Amino acid sequence: EHFLVPDEGLSQALPLECRMSIRHTSASNPAPTLIRNVSVFAPEALGLRQLLIGGGKLLWVGSPEDAAPSIAGLEVLDASGKRLIPGLIDGHAHVTGGGGEGGFATRVPPVPLSRFTAAGVTTVVGVLGTDDLARTPGELLASVYALREQGLSAFAWCGGYHLPPVTLTGSVRGDIVYLDPVIGVGELAISDHRSSQPTFDEFLRVASDTHVAGLMTGKAGVLHLHLGNGARGLELVRRALDETELPAQVFHPTHINRRKALFEEALALARRGCTVDITAFPVDEGEDAWSAADGWERYHSAGAPAERLTISSDAGGCLPTFDHDGRMCRMDVGSAHALLDTVRELLARGHALETVLPAFTSNIARHLRLAGKGEIAVGADADLVILDAAGNVSDVMAQGVWHIRDGELLRVGLFENAQADRI
Ligand code: ZN
Repeated sequence: EHFLVPDEGLSQALPLECRMSIRHTSASNPAPTLIRNVSVFAPEALGLRQLLIGGGKLLWVGSPEDAAPSIAGLEVLDASGKRLIPGLIDGHAHVTGGGGEGGFATRVPPVPLSRFTAAGVTTVVGVLGTDDLARTPGELLASVYALREQGLSAFAWCGGYHLPPVTLTGSVRGDIVYLDPVIGVGELAISDHRSSQPTFDEFLRVASDTHVAGLMTGKAGVLHLHLGNGARGLELVRRALDETELPAQVFHPTHINRRKALFEEALALARRGCTVDITAFPVDEGEDAWSAADGWERYHSAGAPAERLTISSDAGGCLPTFDHDGRMCRMDVGSAHALLDTVRELLARGHALETVLPAFTSNIARHLRLAGKGEIAVGADADLVILDAAGNVSDVMAQGVWHIRDGELLRVGLFENAQADRI
């Protein structure tokens, strides 16, 4: 077996728990795997199936009575009574750690590997937020590459809240065109006291640069927009659609459920062709906001186009509450677990798994043009989650490698154990 240990000398110098983690995070050449008797949601319900996985891909899908291709060294997993879904895609996560809005001590630490995998997330798009100064595009890319080395599929938005957007190459177009993981720009803040208060022209320039870079590369070329609580809401996007040639799919507003009136604006934009993003943040009783589950229900009952809704977690981001003077009075940290919690909440309310899943899987994969992601299909990446009868994560595979097996975490980031020991 091949381990990605940098060198034995370094490995020996680390404490024992770190060395064990290195072995756990190492890329290996996993055995081809046959998963039998599992109820597959692709996300559409396929019924009982068996799946053959090899080389990080889904190679074959058959009915339970089909004879599976015979392959030497095949590992067989019987998943009777369980459901198999595509690995979730988190389109908005502060992988470097976000925060920093209440002083330097409020900078959130980087989000380690297992915070995603344990939450059933196998693809993540990293983002810089309010702090796009002490946090840099280089740091974001390094965090994305680190997650990739550990087996997750990871991408990045370039820029951050502010204008001009922070970039590595000097321009938004350069970052999208030249940097493989960069798929668009975000989270550019609008209608927020922490934004750069972009003018309409400034807003259009970023949007058009993003769009053109997408055309040049076949990447999504999406402008992922942080929406604040401001009354102007989605006015800039509406004007862009009314007054310019820019296509609606360029604009991907997020946090649309943070204010009820904003949510109605987002519904109208979805009908005009925008894909809109709900954030799975906690919502208090009586707050002028919809929880992610409430937002999902409201979106569907309004008859908005089902394929234009996505849900992200804001993992690693700080969730501040500001007082009337604009001072932060409380802070929580977002978690990728919020996605699966929302799935479970919607199932508990009686919605079908195949109806719930697209916002977390196929919709976001299609919108962000993440090939091979968000679906269970022959030729797709072997990113999958097996849920037990109670809806808990039983097994997680990312690009053909097990990260969780029978509820047990097999792989953790290099310093995860070391961190936990010190806390
Ligand atoms: Zn945001």
